[in-house]
Amino acid sequence: MQIAIVGGGIAGLAAAYELEKARAAGAQVDYALYEERPRLGGSLASEIVNGAVLERGPDSFLTEKPAAAELCRELGLGGELLPSNDVARKTYIVVRNRLVALPDGLMFLVPTKLIPTALTRLFGLRTKIRMGLELLHASRPSGGDESVAALVRRHFGQEAVDRLADPLLSGIYGGDAEQLSAQTVLPRLVEMETKYGSLTRGMLAAHKRMRDMAKNSTGPKREAPAIFTALRGGMCQLVDAIVARLDPASLRTGTPASAIRRVTDGGWSVEAGGATEIFNALIMAAPAWAAGELLGPVDVALGSELSGIPYSSSITLNLIYDEKKIGTLPEGFGFLVPAVEGRAMLACTFVHRKFLGRTPPGKAVFRAFLGGMNGEALLAESDEALVGTVRRELGEILGAATLSANVAPEHAQVSRWRRAMAQYAVGHKDRMERIAVRVAELQGLRLVGNAYDGIGVPDCIRLGRQAARELAGTGAKTTAATH
Ligand SMILES: Cc1cc2nc3c(=O)[nH]c(=O)nc-3n(C[C@H](O)[C@H](O)[C@H](O)COP(=O)(O)OP(=O)(O)OC[C@H]3O[C@@H](n4cnc5c(N)ncnc54)[C@H](O)[C@@H]3O)c2cc1C
Repeated sequence: MQIAIVGGGIAGLAAAYELEKARAAGAQVDYALYEERPRLGGSLASEIVNGAVLERGPDSFLTEKPAAAELCRELGLGGELLPSNDVARKTYIVVRNRLVALPDGLMFLVPTKLIPTALTRLFGLRTKIRMGLELLHASRPSGGDESVAALVRRHFGQEAVDRLADPLLSGIYGGDAEQLSAQTVLPRLVEMETKYGSLTRGMLAAHKRMRDMAKNSTGPKREAPAIFTALRGGMCQLVDAIVARLDPASLRTGTPASAIRRVTDGGWSVEAGGATEIFNALIMAAPAWAAGELLGPVDVALGSELSGIPYSSSITLNLIYDEKKIGTLPEGFGFLVPAVEGRAMLACTFVHRKFLGRTPPGKAVFRAFLGGMNGEALLAESDEALVGTVRRELGEILGAATLSANVAPEHAQVSRWRRAMAQYAVGHKDRMERIAVRVAELQGLRLVGNAYDGIGVPDCIRLGRQAARELAGTGAKTTAATH
């Protein structure tokens, strides 16, 4: 079985790794991985500068999704896994240039503790009253999809959208709460609304169930795992460890696939770098917009569904400072900036606080995240202009006493990510069903990557490995979109 993999981001690499494993176990498989860029890893790109690990793309993954840590352990990187420093976890929202801590008891956008909600400066009195009355919200039969903003607005009002849903989601998805699908992004809340009416009541019931389970469990009490897990040397450790396991002869870097066709016996031809190769199966791991262009000539409906998945662009900016030259930072991991604040920055992480040991002593690293659905124009700005904007905004938000305009960073690194993050827009689930129908007609095709069933690194790894197992005959079929 000859398999083409198009796209060498983490999804394509995870597929290639699984095929290598199958081959080592005796399966008759071979593969070629095409990657447009000269390097592998896609959005995973880290660099060590003056002893500080700087992440251009993802800095970590969610611990509760096991696929990434499992793969790291399999690759011998178990000792390199680094939990986030959750004792220092505190996140702020910028409200009129001031940092306001997220109130205690907030679970998935839902306030569950009366006193912190009543006392917070994040919301005005009207929103607080509305949050209390939300307990009386009537249940709603599960119907069609709606935006996250619409769901939150119905329960808690516009201020909760502006100060909570928008910054939390743009910090994760680089997306817009008015466009993201509640059904896909917050399925738990949609279920709770159907069952309980009130999201607060639903959350409190879920919390009670968890407490009861913990009380009744007879095993040893386990500490809650850290929310995020990183790699000590950066996410590139994962990329390097996978690439070291792959056959160099199978890797076609700097070679974009330019045309894909079906061949008469049900196989696939891939044209790339002036050559055409024939395969029995195809793992499409390029972003959906690129996949749509390549697969459109094979299946017009599939091509247009894939091209219809929106993407956002973003910019990350790492600044290294000498800690002696800046004032005391507020406690915590960093802050999120609501769109209504009208700033370029969507979020800023205090990297030296979030993951200990990845920044040399005496240095502070700020990682700013810019862009999202409204930030396309920022991509065209020069590095100098972007660094200037972030320094000015940091000074205004943290205060001149903490970060004076006269104190320059020791190092600034700007990374642009054009159309790198898929957006699960309203109707995403229905689109996935339509895609699954088309894919089922095309023997040997699998779609993997962040556009389908999870935006994060663990989801991309899970889909990539699963697709490879199915094709190599070492695993059962699962998700709809990857038939
Ligand atoms: C700035 C940023 C921060 C993020 N932070 C986090 C985080 O902290 N935690 C987390 O879990 N996730 C995070 N994510 C999301 C996560 O990193 C991505 O969803 C994931 O890495 C996507 O992997 P992928 O393989 O699907 O796609 P990509 O990494 O985009 O890889 C696709 C590859 O396909 C290649 N390609 C495109 N066209 C062709 C072609 N015609 N032929 C051959 N190759 C082609 C591209 O060059 C690219 O290398 C972040 C993403 C970004 C951009």
